[in-house]
Amino acid sequence: MASVKTTTPRETGSAAVESRPVAIVLFGSPGSGKGTQAKYIVDWLGIPQISTGDMLREHIRGGDAIGQAIQGRMNAGSLVSDELVNQLVFERIHKPDCEHGFILDGYPRTTAQAEAMRRLLAASRAEEVVIHLVVDYNVIISRISGRRVCPKCGTLYNAVSHPPKTEGICDLDGSRLVTRDDDREEVVRERLTQYENQTRPLIDFFRNTTGRLIEVDASGDGPEQVFKCIQAELKDLVRR
Ligand code: AMP
Repeated sequence: MASVKTTTPRETGSAAVESRPVAIVLFGSPGSGKGTQAKYIVDWLGIPQISTGDMLREHIRGGDAIGQAIQGRMNAGSLVSDELVNQLVFERIHKPDCEHGFILDGYPRTTAQAEAMRRLLAASRAEEVVIHLVVDYNVIISRISGRRVCPKCGTLYNAVSHPPKTEGICDLDGSRLVTRDDDREEVVRERLTQYENQTRPLIDFFRNTTGRLIEVDASGDGPEQVFKCIQAELKDLVRR
């Protein structure tokens, strides 16, 4: 596994090199490719993906109290409560596999979550790197409507930009691909409205306060090309 290192600016030029966990925040609208890029980064850096959407869907599948409480909101494309997602992320980042760092995919989505995230990162001494995947609105609509997911391993496909080798079947485990409930058109519209109102404004929060913000044009190029740009920007995070 590649490990991750960061050097804080005040240490540059001195002999001291301090290893801190890195928190990669993947930021962008629904359909911007956060999940796909997260999986590339997992393979590259060996740090886990923390997808709040996946964690919430897991609760729904398990039919537990949390799952029952959030199912209606998720199926309608609304955000679930800040308290719940903050708690889920808090518990997740304290697991041993997050020791060297982690990728936040789909979190934070509100100002209250961003503030809670900052407190969490400060407590775990993690260095924050924000990657903003910038995508044109029309591209988003066509991507989401063609999106299919493997219900078993979570791999994402797209009929146009990233088709499976056999139509409707996961390349990795042969499962039949499905459309997520909240990828239906009316729900997608609501998710994009939520994004515009609650999440997009966070980009100003990050521009003003984060130490490191990388903005990548993720509209035109294929996912591998986008990942190459991210890799080039983050190559200092890999210690070989
Ligand atoms: P995603 O898979 O990231 O697109 O998330 C799917 C759905 O899960 C969203 O439309 C929300 O209903 C819910 N969700 C995921 N992450 C969050 C979050 N950070 N805050 C609130 N709701 C979330």
